[in-house]
Amino acid sequence: MLSEQTIGTDRAINLGNRVLVASATAPGQWYEVAEGQCECKGFHYRQRCRHLAVADAAQGIGSCLSCGRITHGRADGLCPECAAAFGVAA
Ligand SMILES: [Zn+2]
Ligand SMILES: [Zn+2]
Repeated sequence: MLSEQTIGTDRAINLGNRVLVASATAPGQWYEVAEGQCECKGFHYRQRCRHLAVADAAQGIGSCLSCGRITHGRADGLCPECAAAFGVAA
């Protein structure tokens, strides 16, 4: 199931272990972001680009509100361990 998401002004498709992010300047161009790397020219030169942040957002990656550890897209913003500790359903 491919679901396109809109993140700010960007469009992204979360494929699980990789994310496709639409180019903001070239219509129809998508960049693949996987394992913290993007295939766009900007990343090639600078080792960073805006697509990485878009990909993170598309994957729902953020920091646990309690311990600050990277967590994956829980609606309550907690990592599984903290959720369990607080007795919140997974
Ligand atoms: Zn990029
Ligand atoms: Zn936590």
